[in-house]
Amino acid sequence: MSENLFLITNDDGFRAEGLEVLSELLKPLGRVVIAAPDIEQSACSHAITLARPLRTNQFAPDCWSVDGTTTDCVLLASQKLLPHLPDAVFSGINHGSNLGDDVTYSGTVAGAFEGCLLGVRSLALSAGDQERLKDPACLELLGKLIGNLLRMDWPKDVLLNVNLPPSGVELRGIRLTRLGRRHYAESVIENTDPRGKVYYWIGGVDPRWYGDADSDFQATAEGFISVTPLHLDLTHYPSLELFRRFESKI
Ligand code: MN
Repeated sequence: MSENLFLITNDDGFRAEGLEVLSELLKPLGRVVIAAPDIEQSACSHAITLARPLRTNQFAPDCWSVDGTTTDCVLLASQKLLPHLPDAVFSGINHGSNLGDDVTYSGTVAGAFEGCLLGVRSLALSAGDQERLKDPACLELLGKLIGNLLRMDWPKDVLLNVNLPPSGVELRGIRLTRLGRRHYAESVIENTDPRGKVYYWIGGVDPRWYGDADSDFQATAEGFISVTPLHLDLTHYPSLELFRRFESKI
């Protein structure tokens, strides 16, 4: 069997600690190629760059930076930089969680979505905080988890959203979860700039959330590594049935 080829990307930029940690974690499992944005692209979601050319910098045989988004990196790498499609795409490890509704903003999660669109098994990885990236016990457990997941088969259009708990809570294991919900109250800050003009700043993430015991928020709050399978098909099938009943009126 030929050596595994892994593509890793992130949205924190190619100098981010989480990218380095992920790369070291994967090296025992195969060849790791990095293609990551040259500057931070957090909350870029699934954006691609269409209105200008993209340029790359190669820092080592298997390390590229791209002056674009996370999705640009995965597209470019899979079509131009890699010798063939990777065996898996990894996005992260993001500096900060990607839980619940936040996955829709996340560049980290979008990197894995793009891998799914290419028909490649993909994982998005995030840590509750940067301190957790220095926790050898957590990284050992994550490495084991990734190794086990790669030996399993799962549908090609499903990505795994993995979140490490914040460093303030004791690591307790791994839990399969569903997305929770976040409160979004008063997240826009209004202030005045030095020239007297009002500006707005979308502020820190509201820490309040709700979710059942099996939610990703609850799991990470309790010290578990959360693993949520996500899929690209946003169709709400129960509503499709509902609207079919009114089809003649639409
Ligand atoms: Mn980020």
